[in-house]
Amino acid sequence: MPSGERPRTCRACGKKFEYPVKGSAATRHHCEDCVVIPVETRKILERLSSRVTQLENQLRRLQEKPPTS
Ligand SMILES: [Zn+2]
Repeated sequence: MPSGERPRTCRACGKKFEYPVKGSAATRHHCEDCVVIPVETRKILERLSSRVTQLENQLRRLQEKPPTS
């Protein structure tokens, strides 16, 4: 696998996407779907997306921790 071609994660929706792809409007940080969303709206999506990521990480930590008895 050539370096620098790992899938990117969209900042707005969290989708994994390839970049760069010929004919795709996707940017480094946003997938093809989100690149067309108005910036103001996308900011909100990014905020929500980062919260979801935080929650997922917290959930994973909680699941890894052995139950305290
Ligand atoms: Zn996206």
